[in-house]
Amino acid sequence: MDKKKILKRKQHQLQVEAELHRLPNQQPKSKSVRVSSKSATTATTTATNPYSSHSGPTPQECLSLRDTLLALHGFPPEFAKYRKRQHVDDNHHHAATIPPETVLDGLVRTVLSQNTTESNSQKAFDSLKSSFPTWEHVLGADSKELENAIRCGGLAPTKASCIKNMLRCLLEKRGKLCLEYLRDLSIDEVKAELSLFKGIGPKTVACVLMFNLQLDDFPVDTHIFEIAKTIGWVPAAADRNKTYLHLNERIPNELKFDLNCLMYTHGKLCRKCTSKKD
Ligand SMILES: [Zn+2]
Repeated sequence: MDKKKILKRKQHQLQVEAELHRLPNQQPKSKSVRVSSKSATTATTTATNPYSSHSGPTPQECLSLRDTLLALHGFPPEFAKYRKRQHVDDNHHHAATIPPETVLDGLVRTVLSQNTTESNSQKAFDSLKSSFPTWEHVLGADSKELENAIRCGGLAPTKASCIKNMLRCLLEKRGKLCLEYLRDLSIDEVKAELSLFKGIGPKTVACVLMFNLQLDDFPVDTHIFEIAKTIGWVPAAADRNKTYLHLNERIPNELKFDLNCLMYTHGKLCRKCTSKKD
C-alpha cells in the first residue's frame, strides 16, 4: 500500500467534504453551469410547495452538489441498474436484453427495505422469492409462513400484513397480481393508484416512481432529509413530507435520479451528516 497515495486520497476527500459542508450562502457559484431553465419549472408536482419562499436549492446548487458527491463517491454501483433505461440502452446495447425488475417486485422490495440495512432487506427479498414461486402463492400463504420468509428483514408481522393487504387489494381491483399497467401512467396517476393500498406510504410510492417507473421523482429518506436540513435546502425545522414537496419542485428533473442516489449514499457514509442530536 502506497502511504502517500492514501494520504493524498484522504486529503482530497476532506477537501470535498469541506466544500459540501460549507454553509449554503458560502457555496461557490459553479462556473459555466447550464441547466435548462425549462426543467426547473416543469418539475412534477401538483401539490403546493409549503416552502416556496425558501431560497434554496437553485438548479446550480443541485448541479454543484451532484458533481461534488460524484467526485467524492463515484456513482453507487447498486443503483446503476435502475438508471434510465433509454440512457443505458443507448450506451450498452446488451443492457436492453436484461429485463427490468417488475413493478410489483420493486414495490415489495421497497416495503421490505424499511427500517433495515440494505443487506438484510436483500436477504429478506431473496428468501421471499425462493419460498414462494409466485405472488399468488404469497397471497394464499399462511401469515406466519410469510413472516418467517421475511423475518431477517425485521418488522416481519407489519411487513407481511402490508404485503398481503396490498396483494389482496390489487387482485380485487385488477383481477391479477401485476402492476405493469403503472408504467403507462403519469406521476400523479401512479400516486393515486398506489395510495389506495393500505400501508403503502408516500416514500414507498416515490421510490417505485423513481427506481421502477423511471419517472422524475425524488424520494426523501432519513439520510436525504438530514442532508437537506444540514445544507439549508429546507428550513431547519422542516418536516419530511414538506421537504419531499419542496425538493421535488426545486431539483431539476434531469438531476433527480443521480442526486438522490448520491445524497443517499453520502448520508450512509458521512458521520457529519448522519450524526443526530439525540
Ligand atoms: Zn456529509
